[in-house]
Amino acid sequence: MSKVTRADFDKYLMGVYCPAPFVAVKGEGSRFWDDAGKEYVDFGGGIAVNVMGHCHPEIVAALESQAHKLWHISNYMCTEPAITLAKNLVESTFADKVFFANSGGEANEAALKLARRYAFEKFGPQKNQIISFYNSFHGRTLFDVTVGGQTKYCEGFGPLPGSIVHADFNDLEQLKSLISKENTCAVIMEPIQGEGGILPATQEFIEGVRKLCDENDALLIFDEVQTGFGRTGYFYAYQYYNVEPDILTSAKGLGAGIAIGAMMARDKVASIFKPGLHGTTFGSNPLATAVGCKSFELVNQPDFLKEVRNKEVLFKKSYQELNDKYDCFKEIRGAGLMIGAQLKDETLLKKITSECLNQGLFVLTAGHDVIRTVPALNISESDIKEGFVRLDKALAVVFNK
Ligand SMILES: *Cc1c(COP(=O)(O)O)cnc(C)c1O
Repeated sequence: MSKVTRADFDKYLMGVYCPAPFVAVKGEGSRFWDDAGKEYVDFGGGIAVNVMGHCHPEIVAALESQAHKLWHISNYMCTEPAITLAKNLVESTFADKVFFANSGGEANEAALKLARRYAFEKFGPQKNQIISFYNSFHGRTLFDVTVGGQTKYCEGFGPLPGSIVHADFNDLEQLKSLISKENTCAVIMEPIQGEGGILPATQEFIEGVRKLCDENDALLIFDEVQTGFGRTGYFYAYQYYNVEPDILTSAKGLGAGIAIGAMMARDKVASIFKPGLHGTTFGSNPLATAVGCKSFELVNQPDFLKEVRNKEVLFKKSYQELNDKYDCFKEIRGAGLMIGAQLKDETLLKKITSECLNQGLFVLTAGHDVIRTVPALNISESDIKEGFVRLDKALAVVFNK
């Protein structure tokens, strides 16, 4: 590969991202390095993707071993890694069947299509309404952005898919006024809104949504693309709430850094998908599912998940200590290693994240005023501590202290 620079990014790639002012070249555990050799603590985790950090030896070995056997063969054949991963997911969740996609957005697209088709076959074409919640994020296909209910992601892309309405998150009364037996085919929600600002559903709300769906013959879809795969300290967040969906979507952490998504459902719903009704060329790809199997094996362990919940305590405590010093957060919230710190002064968000990079720390944002930290689930206590030392330095610069 010839040497390229950050300036080449602007020259050759479409401008939908605004990456950091360097080229990332190498990662190990919860640290990575740029092209000038500078090292960073990674609190971004590839946006809640790298559950085992960068280049985890067992995951590298799983990828390497599969790379010597079979990369891709198409869904005209079935392969061992895909069957094994599906079996693992079914045996550890509410679901009876799995469909593999290549991303979270595609998994949601599949879930929404399945819900529409289910209602069409069971109840007729009038039952096609999808209810979702403002501020949610379900991916970037046209269906997903429309369902997501954030104007900034759908404006100017119309005409948009129809029969999609939105309610305020955690507002059961509003949902009650919109849902109907006649028209509603599905309600889709994130158990904890991620991109929207790390906003957890209340226990009362999520139980109420389940009940309203049951009363109105509507399917409940949990988008666990971000909350799933150990992120909250539970394998899936619904297991924490103890409320089961009819369909669940998973991606991000599932592949530990390889592109994969999954849509899972109970038999009564899944049986609607017959040969030819849905599909994707790369879905069930042996490389991706082999990595998924290893990722599953490492993450879905009671001790490992308990450690994630322990690290939640350390993260929240560390944020609180910074708040005692700078009085800068309105709220510190989230579960497991999906933590948001909401700023009192939202105009400082950009300044803080870029000063973090100067100090050698990568953090994400959510909504317009939240610092989001979703690191590798196996991040060490010393990396967490070092990350907060650097966050402290960044805040000292921003607040002139
Ligand atoms: C990231 C995300 C998506 C989209 O996943 P992609 O892999 O980017 O398509 C969907 N839903 C939620 C909750 C997400 O966090």
